[in-house]
Amino acid sequence: MKSISVLGSAGSIGTQTLDVVSRHPREFRVVGLASYDEVDAVEKQVRRFKPKIVSLAVEDAAKELKKRLKGVRVEIVSGSQGLIEVATHPDANVVVTAVVGSVGLLPTLEAIKAGKDIALANKETLVCAGEIVMREVKRRGAGLYPVDSEHCAIWQCKEGQDPQSVERLILTCSGGPFRKASKQNIENATVEEALAHPNWKMGGKITIDSATLMNKGLEVIEAHWLFGIPYERIKVVIHPQSLVHSMVEFKDGSILAQIGVHDMRIPIQYALSYPRRLPVGKDSHLDFASMGALEFGKPDLERFPCLAYAYEAGKIGGTMPAVMNAANEVAVVEFFLKGKAKFGDIPRAVRRTMDAARRGKLSVVKMPPHVTATNVAKLSLKPVKEPVFKKNPELEDILKADGWARDYARLLLNGSTGQKID
Ligand code: MG
Repeated sequence: MKSISVLGSAGSIGTQTLDVVSRHPREFRVVGLASYDEVDAVEKQVRRFKPKIVSLAVEDAAKELKKRLKGVRVEIVSGSQGLIEVATHPDANVVVTAVVGSVGLLPTLEAIKAGKDIALANKETLVCAGEIVMREVKRRGAGLYPVDSEHCAIWQCKEGQDPQSVERLILTCSGGPFRKASKQNIENATVEEALAHPNWKMGGKITIDSATLMNKGLEVIEAHWLFGIPYERIKVVIHPQSLVHSMVEFKDGSILAQIGVHDMRIPIQYALSYPRRLPVGKDSHLDFASMGALEFGKPDLERFPCLAYAYEAGKIGGTMPAVMNAANEVAVVEFFLKGKAKFGDIPRAVRRTMDAARRGKLSVVKMPPHVTATNVAKLSLKPVKEPVFKKNPELEDILKADGWARDYARLLLNGSTGQKID
């Protein structure tokens, strides 16, 4: 039996992970749960799965949970330290990292150091610190099993093959809700339009990333680190049906594809049960006879520049992917999803933040704690002491670059709503 900690248990991947656990109670048990502030959902999860430890990032939420769970035997912790405690709990042997954003980096690294295997759903971990994370995985002999459907597909296609025989990785991409939209319509797309993903039902951040194709860009970087393949040999192909989850092309011209319905419980379950395969529900089987045609096409980098920016950031390397990811996170979560920026501002914020980091003409923002998009205009700029871009960064450099890029993007985006900055 595998003992699991789930980071991000109230989110889309988190709840589907718990669904997999409840379908296979003899295979898996839950040791730890961590979430942001979702007291109602987590209370139910604790009563149902009886973990030993639970963390809510927001302290008041953790207090409320303690009140509600009085008399229940569970340790309740909070803050970023709480997330790490859940990730490193001595009874857990697999950690599902399903939190959103670069906040997943530190707990994932700590879990690897504590000897856990990782079912990786938080792609930002590898985007921001791929080299450091993979070094640690090798050193500790940890298992790093991708939950992302594309990477799970590639992993399955490569399984048992000679790594030297791989010619190319081919990541499929649905194209998102704006696959056929004009540049102008994309520029002014509403939150509602951007959240209407044609195939997958996911959380808000990743759904917007799927609409800009930044999600595919992050996945290219994730694939580079997971499989050790240079960017030139990682291709993206538009496949609107999302049934071919990704492919591996070998030197002899053979291509292996992994195909199945779009149900995230399949890759989650494989990452948890590997090397075994467990049964799934009836509705998770693909009927070829009624599947219809499969289409494939080229991504349009002019309408979806985020994909090109991700290739660029990945090839530059160092702290650049962390800078790109942080700018994107701020633009999506703090601005676009809150109606404070246009859809077209997302790629612009990413571009300008990457350029600023690259130019070296850097300013760093003096940030009071708990700064928000509304009070960001009150911030001041001061000269930066060291460059944000570093070619061979330590973890600390990556965290600094991430923080700087967030601040920079906040200033930039605030400017787009009236104040001119940069
Ligand atoms: Mg994916």
